[in-house]
Amino acid sequence: MNVFSHPEFDNHEQVCFLTDPKTGLKAIVAVHNSSRGPALGGCRMYPYASDEEALRDVLRLSKGMTYKSALANLDLGGGKSVIIGDPRQHKTEELMEAMGRCLEQLGGRYIAAEDSGTSVPDLKVMGRCTTQVAGVSTHIGFDGKPSDGDPSPATAYGTFVGLKAAVQHKLGRTDLTGLKVAIQGIGNVGYRLARHLHEAGAQLWVYDIHQDQMDRAVEEFGATPVSAEEILTLPVDVVAPCALGAVLNDTSIPQLQAKVVAGAANNQLERPDHDALLMQHGILYAPDFVINAGGIIDVFHGRTGYEPEKVRAHVETIGDTLSEIFTRSDRDSRPTGIIANELAEERFDFVPSQQDGSLAKAG
Ligand code: NAD
Repeated sequence: MNVFSHPEFDNHEQVCFLTDPKTGLKAIVAVHNSSRGPALGGCRMYPYASDEEALRDVLRLSKGMTYKSALANLDLGGGKSVIIGDPRQHKTEELMEAMGRCLEQLGGRYIAAEDSGTSVPDLKVMGRCTTQVAGVSTHIGFDGKPSDGDPSPATAYGTFVGLKAAVQHKLGRTDLTGLKVAIQGIGNVGYRLARHLHEAGAQLWVYDIHQDQMDRAVEEFGATPVSAEEILTLPVDVVAPCALGAVLNDTSIPQLQAKVVAGAANNQLERPDHDALLMQHGILYAPDFVINAGGIIDVFHGRTGYEPEKVRAHVETIGDTLSEIFTRSDRDSRPTGIIANELAEERFDFVPSQQDGSLAKAG
């Protein structure tokens, strides 16, 4: 398995392979760039088919975090960790403690947060053995409600703010009354986004693989349930992907009728150049790693001293950042994803990749 010549290797500062035979821990930590501060990023647990697959994920995702934090104006670098294993079968308190001990040895270069396969309770177990975990503090959140550190409310609010900025830019409207929005995925973020939109007077269409998630949105927000095939192709103003990645691709983009894509899901573009295809179709795309940064902003403040009003104001800057990206994109006639990457690269010690200069994707 190659590291330095790996296609996803992009001048990463540090890549650590961690093991603990007693607990079966096998993990990789990647610090992509720490010029803005310590590298913060999720700790993902996933049954990777191979070590190579795990390495690929951690290299790609840690780079994405550098871009996301820079665009969110956080004094943080980009990092990520992956634990190789099935969270439903292999996750034990001992394993999480072993991961915590390993992170402690990195001396604060990398700070772990929750990600798919890990949750706030897991991070708290890790935190028995290290101070290098984030998103575990209980406090009053940016919205005035008690928070256990879950970043989803801030992610949803940031996505709502970003969606409004996109609608204003593309459709020239600030009043969301009657705005038609299709939301794919009504989970932690999608459900809260739906609530913000409903409260602002928008009309909603929803799809989720779980019927109960859809039922809740129908009951509470008067949303219209639709099928998996319909959700991206409806004659709506906005499509908000809030479930999974790669939903914007050669097949789906020509079928979109919405003029705005603004949602929280990570890695929405199947390939980096799909932002250009969206542009060709006259669709304004809010880059996912910009619009969904509310969570990392929230987690950052959880470590540095949480002041709800300050956090709210910081999350709201997502709208300003997106407006700047949209304006530059129009001015230069270049896709928003490329512009977002360039804007991020102005904000950290960027060293051009020796590989193909491929675009960052947020994790
Ligand atoms: P979640 O697991 O709570 O919700 C995802 C929802 O999508 C679930 O209800 C699930 O049933 C549904 N879903 C899964 N496959 C689907 C499909 N094929 N079609 C429609 N629905 C489907 O996750 P979340 O925390 O709400 O995160 C949603 C997305 O936002 C993810 O891509 C995540 O990586 C990204 N994100 C989340 C945060 C956060 O703070 N939670 C931060 C940044 C990015």
